[in-house]
Amino acid sequence: MMDRNQLYMNGEWVSSAGSGTIEVVNPYTEATIARIPAGSPDDVERAVRSARCAFSGWANTSVEKRVHLLEKVHQGLVARQDEIAELITAEVGTPLKISKRIQAFLPVANLESCCTLAMSYPFERILANSTIYKEPVGVVACITPWNYPLHQVVAKIAPALLMGCTVVLKPSEVAPLTAFLLAEIMDEAGLPPGVFNLVTGDGPDVGEALVRQDEVDMVSFTGSVDAGKRVAAVSSESVKRVALELGGKSASVILDDADLAKAVKGTINACFLNSGQTCNALTRMLVPESLYDEVVNLSIEICKSFKLGDPREADTRLGPLVSESQRSRVRQYIETGMKEGADLLCGGPEAPTELAHGYFVQPTVLGKVTSAMTVAQSEIFGPVLSILTYRTENEAIRIANDSRYGLGGAVWSGNKERAMKIAKEMRTGQVDVNGAAFNLLAPFGGFKQSGYGRELGEFGFEEFVEVKSVQS
Ligand code: NAD
Repeated sequence: MMDRNQLYMNGEWVSSAGSGTIEVVNPYTEATIARIPAGSPDDVERAVRSARCAFSGWANTSVEKRVHLLEKVHQGLVARQDEIAELITAEVGTPLKISKRIQAFLPVANLESCCTLAMSYPFERILANSTIYKEPVGVVACITPWNYPLHQVVAKIAPALLMGCTVVLKPSEVAPLTAFLLAEIMDEAGLPPGVFNLVTGDGPDVGEALVRQDEVDMVSFTGSVDAGKRVAAVSSESVKRVALELGGKSASVILDDADLAKAVKGTINACFLNSGQTCNALTRMLVPESLYDEVVNLSIEICKSFKLGDPREADTRLGPLVSESQRSRVRQYIETGMKEGADLLCGGPEAPTELAHGYFVQPTVLGKVTSAMTVAQSEIFGPVLSILTYRTENEAIRIANDSRYGLGGAVWSGNKERAMKIAKEMRTGQVDVNGAAFNLLAPFGGFKQSGYGRELGEFGFEEFVEVKSVQS
């Protein structure tokens, strides 16, 4: 049992002003593995004050020095990469192999890439008789979810700190453990006191108290649409800048000339990654009506290859969902899909019989789904794929765009030009053609209710700067 009973602010570990605690549960064993402070509005105020006090000094620190300190943080993360993977497997349930490859690797790679990019970032340029300055926004509140807990934190704090902002981080109360580890690394790296601060607690009490603070200049939020709307509404009272990375219901459009086996496999892998708890998961597979039967056979075969089990075992491909409440939510969605007329092709709402504990949901494929069904519109956040059919390319585009979300997407075709044309028509922040690799330099973020603002690479830097023009 880990007892993480302190918060980090003004360069030191301090006790919370409140006495409450939150339990962190391992979703495979169902046992409590850690306790963290539940935090309080007083903690929030203290953390924000230290970030405010540190702001001017940090904003005026040279970019070389900021990069140097964050390179030390990068080295600290590299040294503890295995521990990071183990922690995230314990609190989220991600299979260890995937935790190493994604949960631990991605934040390390992203921080390194941000440090390199920051060295050539144009903080200043001349435009006729104006000098244009990019200046740090100020004190940034970073509020993050549980599904890729360290990646989402680093995607915010790396650009914020490199641009000269100071930060108060409130990680997810469901998977907070790597945020404590990060605070230890920040401390060892020698960041000036108050530049990075950590408070923990739930959303409505601690998260919202942070958003309400007058001394917070910007909120960078990743999470659900409902919480994002609340954050935007509360922020509007003091006209704070807000960046929102919210949910998704991403479409994978398979064209009739695609390598079908590759496209179906690629879609299902992206749908079931991290047990479907991925914001840009490809959860709607759009296929030509004439190829439906072939796609169904392929899907069933692939779905069966996802072995559920102990996330620490090497051959486990699907771990549990993060919590009991997520599990029951996902099962209800599967039942709703069946009630509304979808065909259950694989999996189902019942608990897998072979496992005695753990919040598991069987990998599930639903066929004959139509765009009007709940499972085609709601973000399920579990290992559930919906197959929809179309007759013409235009109909495929219409169905793909028939969503309140617009985060990710995919197109599969033997003809790259044809695929690129469809990618352009999709109202979504990212589209991958034929399973192309994730790019850490490419802007990541949503259209429509998937949010606003972009993370990663140079586009991620832009979120954390104000633009000033001085005429002379
Ligand atoms: P959530 O919205 O419940 O919580 C996210 C964070 O917001 C947590 O730290 C929580 O404590 C806090 N929070 C909740 N209510 C708040 C409030 N009123 N004020 C301030 N803070 C509040 O989301 P979750 O369940 O942790 O994560 C899953 C969701 O996140 C999914 O919808 C998923 O799609 C989304 N997500 C989006 C992206 C992206 O980049 N677009 C990435 C990962 C996850």
